[in-house]
Amino acid sequence: MRYKYVVVGAGLAGLTAAERIAEVLDEEVLVIEKRNHIGGNVYDSYNEEGILIHNYGPHIFHTNDKEVYDYLSQFTPWYHFWHRVLTYVDGNLIPMPITVETINKMYNLNLSCFEVEEFLAKQAVSVDEIRTSKDVALSKVGEDIYKKIFENYTRKQWGVDPAELDTAVISRIPIRANRDTRYFSDKYQGMPKYGYTKLCENMTRNKKIKILLNTDYKEIIRDLEYDKLIYTGPTDYFYDYKHGKMAYRSLEFQFETYSREEYQEAPVVNYPNDYDFTRITEFKKLTGQEHKKTTILKEFPTSEGEPYYPFPTKEYQQQFKLYQAEIEKEEKVVFLGRLAEYRYYNMDGVVRRVLNAFKGGFRG
Ligand code: FAD
Ligand code: UDP
Repeated sequence: MRYKYVVVGAGLAGLTAAERIAEVLDEEVLVIEKRNHIGGNVYDSYNEEGILIHNYGPHIFHTNDKEVYDYLSQFTPWYHFWHRVLTYVDGNLIPMPITVETINKMYNLNLSCFEVEEFLAKQAVSVDEIRTSKDVALSKVGEDIYKKIFENYTRKQWGVDPAELDTAVISRIPIRANRDTRYFSDKYQGMPKYGYTKLCENMTRNKKIKILLNTDYKEIIRDLEYDKLIYTGPTDYFYDYKHGKMAYRSLEFQFETYSREEYQEAPVVNYPNDYDFTRITEFKKLTGQEHKKTTILKEFPTSEGEPYYPFPTKEYQQQFKLYQAEIEKEEKVVFLGRLAEYRYYNMDGVVRRVLNAFKGGFRG
């Protein structure tokens, strides 16, 4: 069989590529997906109680990239909301990320924004060179806050000490000497009004997009002819692990439904120092759905299982360079997305990356 374009993976990366190829180039494109559904990790569905859940963990869309926002807005209206997170420290629920409210609640103070800036400057540990996530936290908030908020959460999430992780990991969390308690400060944030799966279905409306589910691409790729293969699966698998297996962090998901309207005060509550799970998400508080019952999700990080997070250490970044050297030699294959590029992309980053690659003619 011949397709000019073949896409491996029906996550946001693969679907953005397929949508652009069909819509703009007016070409047929085959999307091969090993799971039994499209959407990759943004897939959501209604559980048996009729509550909309995110099957692969809580996904909150947020971006400052207007082009990405406008692009996705073609496929969905939005339910706009500001995401908020609380974290459970010393028996109290305090706002995350660190803001004036966090410091005041943690230390039972009543400081102004200016005083919090001074307070944090006094706590901060001087670090010669910021090389790791531990350095980032210590240099901004000092030992006590580091231990209470970051150290154990990070150990649970990644299975290693923050001193082993790239600066980018803890840098994801802003430190604000103001009263803005939103988790993200991006201009556009919210949920696709009818869910991510609906958004993804709308991306694939064009009849030129053919989707093959339940199929590992290796089962059929030899029977296909193509000009361009857009690959969004794990790159080590593509190369039969010739440079070794890349490490990914995985999660076990435990969903629980309660016969009451509300479970917790915020959409997400983090548990840095208690329990084996990292956080609890209450879906209705993300989606705005009204229902007499409520479903929550506990996330238990693991090293085995579906690859969800690329592992942000120097060691694995070095190892991935060996695969990057292979990628650069490819003429017909382009590697895009969180797994293929081994990058801790957010949803907007993935869409931006694919839109750019498309504009560049998928030359890699
Ligand atoms: P994926 O969604 O992983 O899609 C890759 C697809 O390829 C999968 O469907 C997979 O089954 C398929 N595939 C793999 N191998 C093969 C094969 N051999 N043959 C065929 N198909 C194959 N981002 C945000 O912006 N906000 C958030 O709040 C947020 N929360 C997150 C929470 C969790 C728990 C996780 C794990 C991620 C979160 N993200 C969030 C990131 C977001 O999920 C990703 O940026 C995005 O989904 C990546 O899309 P992708 O297409 O690159 O990868
Ligand atoms: N983090 C932490 N304590 C928290 C929240 C986050 O130490 O209460 C650290 C942890 O290392 C985590 C990283 O910050 O992996 C990024 O957090 P984010 O909420 O962005 O993680 P994601 O939603 O991608 O899992």
